[in-house]
Parts: sequence; structure tokens; C-alpha cells
Amino acid sequence: MIQFKQLSFWEKVTLLEEIDFLIVGSGIVGSACALELRRKNPDAKIVILERSYLPLGASTKNAGFACFGSVTELLDDLKNTPEERVWNTVKLRFEGLERLLQRFPVSELNYENCGSYDLIMDEDELMFYGSKLAYLNHQIEFITGKKDCYSFEKNVNAKFGFKGFEGGYFNRLEGAIDTGKLLLATQRDLAKNGIIVLNGIEVTDFHPDQNEVLIETNYGEIRSKKLGITINGFAKKLLPELDVEPARAQVIVTSEIPDLQAKGTFHLDKGYYYFRNIGNRILLGGGRNLDFKTENTFELSQSKLIQDALEELLKEKILPNRDFTIDYRWSGTMGVGNEKGPIIEKINSNTAVGVRLGGMGVAIGSLAGEKLASLLNE
Ligand SMILES: Cc1cc2nc3c(=O)[nH]c(=O)nc-3n(C[C@H](O)[C@H](O)[C@H](O)COP(=O)(O)OP(=O)(O)OC[C@H]3O[C@@H](n4cnc5c(N)ncnc54)[C@H](O)[C@@H]3O)c2cc1C
Repeated sequence: MIQFKQLSFWEKVTLLEEIDFLIVGSGIVGSACALELRRKNPDAKIVILERSYLPLGASTKNAGFACFGSVTELLDDLKNTPEERVWNTVKLRFEGLERLLQRFPVSELNYENCGSYDLIMDEDELMFYGSKLAYLNHQIEFITGKKDCYSFEKNVNAKFGFKGFEGGYFNRLEGAIDTGKLLLATQRDLAKNGIIVLNGIEVTDFHPDQNEVLIETNYGEIRSKKLGITINGFAKKLLPELDVEPARAQVIVTSEIPDLQAKGTFHLDKGYYYFRNIGNRILLGGGRNLDFKTENTFELSQSKLIQDALEELLKEKILPNRDFTIDYRWSGTMGVGNEKGPIIEKINSNTAVGVRLGGMGVAIGSLAGEKLASLLNE
């Protein structure tokens, strides 16, 4: 393993010396932060250090839902969190989505304004959620200026070929992106803007002083005037005092299913399950609520309990009487805490963090990165 001190003059001077802004993590937040820093500092040297050959957290492993809140998720949040904070987070998510779609043309992300369905299995629950619809619509209109966001849809089974759902609540303002396309567009923008991305370098510690930050890595030390930490679910490793825990999220994708009826994005059970079509395949993720303790891990493996539950949901309810196999299985790591919502704050005069994006980083990642850039630019 060649250490930094063994590198050539050219390598050291060009890549590793006199860095103005160093960002740890090349996910949605780190990349958006670097691009915003470039916009404000055309001549700065901006470097991103990423521990893996690809981002290895959530940004390239997610489901691509461009979402800001399903009926059951919001009502659950309102039970556990002060109302004002819930609506502030919804506002951030909605504005974040608008920001994402300003950064990239819709066609570049394959963005589909398909809306989403929150599917309900129990008739009593359906009645209960229905009684809250007017209130939710009022709040969403206040935030977005758009009327009648949520509406009731009874015939979800017939419409999509499902079995066992009593109905669903449609959110007309949500949609979906192609996560792979977001990765490509981001990599292109980083290169075009002269941002140096060094992959395979893990930051192990950092020591700020008055003028700069000394950053320790697995290849040696680097100095930077400013440091931005965007490692989301891994925050605990560098900043144990923050309220951020890793939360593994498991995903499966089926084989192609001829004449697939289930087109669009769907949530279930307060957002703990989510599925969508990718062409003629179904991507299904979730089930973390079956075993929170085991899923509080940095491991990117899968568990039998959750994989079985996901497959059963597919067989019994989403694709009943259809033949399919599971072609892809993976896991990603989210960052969650006792409170829902990101931590974007300065930890000293030259270091700031943007972490704990939960299950909403597609929506708020761009905005979070920009807010972090503003803190670093102060
Ligand atoms: C399976 C899954 C499905 C999801 N679905 C959705 C969805 O549909 N819609 C939605 O809005 N959100 C979704 N999310 C959440 C969303 O993907 C995240 O909130 C978002 O990607 C977080 O971006 P980030 O840049 O903060 O973090 P990350 O993408 O996790 O990036 C952090 C980066 O830091 C790197 N890193 C960590 N430690 C170090 C270190 N010490 N040194 C160097 N590099 C380091 C990691 O390798 C990683 O690349 C999902 C998440 C998962 C896992």
C-alpha cells in the first residue's frame, strides 16, 4: 500500500496540497456540497475523499423514491414528534425535491411524476386514516401551495393486480428517479467542475486547529483549510457524540414480469416497506421494523428473516399468482437517530457535518449539501 509520503511531487502538489475544502464521503450530500462550494469559490481546490471505489452508503443503493411523506408515515411521525418539526421536515423534503429537479433536467434522472400509493391492509385503519385526509391536505397545501395532495383509491387490487389490500391513499405530488442516472450525472458534474474525487481513502480521524484541519487517513495525513463530513450512517465512527446510528436497509429486485400491472411507486406500513417498478421488474425494500436491533449495523449483508418477509409480501400480495425469481439482492446503510431530520451544523470554525439523512436523502440530499456548503463558506 503506497502511503501519501511515497507519492511523486506531481501527485502531492496537484492532489493533496493546499486544499481549500475537503469533503469526506461522495454520496448525494458530499457531492452536492462540493458542487455548491465550487459555484461560490471558482478557484478553490476542492477534494472529496471516498473510502470505496463507489460510494458505499445509501446514495447508490436506494429505491429512488422522490417522496416527502405518505399518509401513514406522516401520521406516525405526528404521534412521536412535535407537530412543527414534522411539517418542517416535510417542507425540507418538498423543497429538496424541487432543488434536485432544478439541478438536473427531468430527462437526465428519468424522473417520473407518477405519484405514489400508500397501501392499507386493514379496514379499520383505512377508516382512521381517511378521517385525517382533510387535515393532511390542508397542511400540505400550506407548505407546497398545491391543493388535494392526497386522495382515496379503493380499487388498488384490481388496478395493479395486488391481493389483500383494502385500499390506498394516492399522493399526486411524489415520483421516482433512476438512482443510477443520478450517480452518472453527479460524476459528470464533479469532473466538469474540477472537483478532485479520490476513491479508496478512508478518513480515520481529524484534528482541527485555528487555521486548518489535519485529516488522518489509511494512507497518511492531509491538511485542508475547511473540512465537511458527509458520512451519514457512519457518522458514529468519526463523531461518536452525534445522535446517528446506522440502519441497514435490504432490497430485492425480481426478474422481468411480462405485462406487469404494478407500475408506479408504493409505500406500506408507515414507510417501513416500499416498492416500485423498474420497467417490468419490481424493486421491493424494507422490513427493518421486524428486527431493529440486528439492522442497527454497518454490515452490508442480508438477513433471512427480512429476505423471507420481503419475498412473502411479493408472493402473497404484490405479485399473487405470478411466476418470478429474485435477480438482485443488496443492502445499504442509512443514518437515523432519535429524531427524524438531518444534522447540518458546524462543529468548530473550520469543520461542519451534514449527516443523518434517514430514508429521505434523495429528497433532501441536494439541499442538505448546499446548506453544509454555506456553513463551510462562512
Ligand atoms: C436501501 C435504501 C433505500 C432508500 N430509498 C430511498 C428513497 O427511495 N428515497 C429517499 O429519499 N431516500 C432513500 N434512501 C435514503 C437515501 O439514499 C439517503 O438518505 C442518502 O443517499 C444519504 O446520502 P448521504 O450522501 O448523506 O450518505 P451516503 O450516500 O451514505 O454517503 C456517505 C458516503 O461516505 C462514505 N464514507 C463513510 N465513512 C467514510 C470515511 N471514514 N472516509 C471516507 N468515506 C467515508 C461512504 O462510503 C459513503 O459513500 C434509501 C436508503 C437505502 C439504504
